[in-house]
Amino acid sequence: MELTVLGCGGFMPYPGLAVPAFLLRRHGTSYLLDAGEGTQLRMVESGLSRTDIETIFISHMHGDHTLGLPGVLIRRGQEGCREPLHIVGPSRLENYVNAFQENLIFNLRYEIRFVPLSGSELHTFSQVWAGTVPLEHRIENFGFVLCARGRKRKFHPEKAKEIGIPCGPLWGQLQEGKEIVLKNGRVVKPREVSDPPPKGPKIAYITDTRPVFSYPEAFHNADLLIHEAMFLEKHRHHAEKKYHSTALEAARVANHLNADRLLLTHRSHRYNDPEILLKEARSEFSNTELAVDGMEIEV
Ligand SMILES: [Zn+2]
Ligand SMILES: [Zn+2]
Repeated sequence: MELTVLGCGGFMPYPGLAVPAFLLRRHGTSYLLDAGEGTQLRMVESGLSRTDIETIFISHMHGDHTLGLPGVLIRRGQEGCREPLHIVGPSRLENYVNAFQENLIFNLRYEIRFVPLSGSELHTFSQVWAGTVPLEHRIENFGFVLCARGRKRKFHPEKAKEIGIPCGPLWGQLQEGKEIVLKNGRVVKPREVSDPPPKGPKIAYITDTRPVFSYPEAFHNADLLIHEAMFLEKHRHHAEKKYHSTALEAARVANHLNADRLLLTHRSHRYNDPEILLKEARSEFSNTELAVDGMEIEV
C-alpha cells in the first residue's frame, strides 16, 4: 500500500503545513482519510487521481478535517467518475453533504453510500477492511485502522480430502476463511484445512484526541501508526484543555499498540522547529518520523 501525506498540520492551514488529509492506495483503488481545506488541489499537485477514490473516512466534523470534502466530491464527479462512493464517519456527514449539494445547486451524478458510525465497528471494502474506534476529543471523533485484504490462505487439499470435503466451491469458501457444513452435519473450520490468513499491511490513523490506552485488538500491531502530536510535553496543559496529544503521549500510544513505525501528524504551527516534537517522541519510541506535506510512504 502507498500512503501520501496531503496535509499534516492542525487547526488552520499555513504555507507548507496544510490541514489533515492522507491518501492510501492499493491496486489502483484509493482511500482518503480526512479532507481538510485544499485537499483537491494537493491531490492535483501530487499527481493523484480523484476518480479512484472508493471510500472517504472522516474522523470528525471540525473544519480542519471537513472543509475540503465538497471540493473533492464535486471534482470526482466533474472528472467523470460515476462509481458509488462510501463516506464513513460521524452521522452528521450526511446532512453536511446533502446541504452543500442543495445550496450549491449541484448534482454529483454518482451515488454516495453513507456509513454513519456509532462505536467500534468493522467494515469491508474492495481492497481493505476498516476498523473504527471512538476517541476522546471535544466532539464525537473516530480513529481508523485500514488493513489490506484479499490475500488467500494456503490451502491443504490432502487434509480436505481426508475429512471428506468434495473438491469444488466448498474448498474456495474455506480458503476465504468461511466455515462450511458438510451433508453429514459436520462443521469444518478453515484452520482445519488451511494455514492462518497472511497478514496484510495495516495502517492506524488516530488524530485529535487525548491519548487512549484501550484500543480494540484490530488497532494493535500496525505497520504504521499515524498519530497526532499537536503539542510538546511542556505544553501538556494546552493538550489537555483542547483534547489533543503531546509528542510523548503519541509515542506512548505507539508502544502500547506495539506499532512498527510512528508518524507524527497534526502539529501546531507554533513550533518553528518541528524536530523538537520528533526528538521528544523518539525518547520513548525510536522508530518515529515526522509527517511532511507531500511525503510518500510505502507500507
Ligand atoms: Zn484537527
Ligand atoms: Zn478536532
